[in-house]
Amino acid sequence: MRGSLHSLVGMQPPARPKRNNMKISAIKTFLMQVGAPGLGRPNSASFGGSRNWLFVRVETDEGVYGVGEGSGWPRVVETAVKDYAPLLIGEDPCDIDRLWHKLFLASMGHGQLGTVGGGALTAIEMALWDIKGKALGAPVWQLLGGRFRDRIPVYTHAKTADEARRLKGLGYGALKVSFTGFADPAIVAAIREAVGPEIDLMVDCHGPSWMTFADAVRTARALEPLEILFFEDPLPPEQWEQYERLRQMTTIPLAAGERLATIWGFRPLIERELVAVVQPDTGRAGGISQMRKIAAMAEAHDIMVAPHSGSLGPIAEVAALHVLATIPNALMLETFAEDWRGRYEVVTPVFRAKDGLMSVPNTPGLGIDLVETEILKYPSERNVREAPGKGTGAFEPGTELAYSYTQLRLRRALRFGRDGAKPIA
Ligand SMILES: [Mg+2]
Repeated sequence: MRGSLHSLVGMQPPARPKRNNMKISAIKTFLMQVGAPGLGRPNSASFGGSRNWLFVRVETDEGVYGVGEGSGWPRVVETAVKDYAPLLIGEDPCDIDRLWHKLFLASMGHGQLGTVGGGALTAIEMALWDIKGKALGAPVWQLLGGRFRDRIPVYTHAKTADEARRLKGLGYGALKVSFTGFADPAIVAAIREAVGPEIDLMVDCHGPSWMTFADAVRTARALEPLEILFFEDPLPPEQWEQYERLRQMTTIPLAAGERLATIWGFRPLIERELVAVVQPDTGRAGGISQMRKIAAMAEAHDIMVAPHSGSLGPIAEVAALHVLATIPNALMLETFAEDWRGRYEVVTPVFRAKDGLMSVPNTPGLGIDLVETEILKYPSERNVREAPGKGTGAFEPGTELAYSYTQLRLRRALRFGRDGAKPIA
């Protein structure tokens, strides 16, 4: 090999396995239609009728298998997982990072990742960690370096003071108030009044394209007296320069990152210290290794990690528990206090928050499995929704609300007093 690139840089080419390693033998996908979150308010949830969960099962020739979950448009991610599958058959499932990079390179022709590709890599990689943990008889958190904690604080969502009071009674120590755009300080103030100073409150504006920098500044300043733990997505996630300016104009800690994937996606957010909290989505940020690397990058800047959940199912949620158990800068995990009943039927065992905490599994691998017969009861039908109409925060055909850039005028008018949506013509 004298003179070869490997000898020049002092490396050895990968050795052929000497023994008969475990080999990946099959990759199966399970795509399902999911009901709206919020058992108590079935019609109000934004995911109603369009939410899908995608689970994968990576099987091996030794009978050990692992499960994973990919978000980032599950119906499309399923196709990506199937496309990746032939590249994995016959591979040693324990070479997790090597296989991740093999798939990452294979996606170069598709522009590499984004959250859809990130979802596919995530689902597969998560299952590989599950296999490795089972094969070694160790929980995934053990393989990641061991635990800081065995229970993870979780937060959920409140829309009204009454709801917030009820959730505080269930033991939640942190609640998020969501708006599509302008946050209403009066609603947040009423919730603060109802729960008192000991509950952490967060506000999410979902970064709509029609919300301006000036709106974000105005909203942040209005929220400042309410002692908000973090202000999430006050601006569209592409507007890093605006985040930089906003950060200097408000004392509220900012949070973002649910639409980003991989360490490269998170780099500007972290390296420029634009936020106090990063929110990688455990189903689409790239996988467990990527979550750990993102957390390490954040740690170097004293930034906390609070993984996004949104439309995630129960497998990704458990993967987040393993990651959060092992990192020093874990803040808390987003959950739905009351999700659609299927969340509690399609996996075993079922994980639920108690007193605002979720326990980290102590069994080999991820510690959760699919209940295939239940999943098959809910075949996927569609995975995008028609935008809801007036008053729900999205587009309404035939009005100014139909176009994101003309929404600004109307939203401002609605927020500050003008009558409802008017036809453009
Ligand atoms: Mg959000």
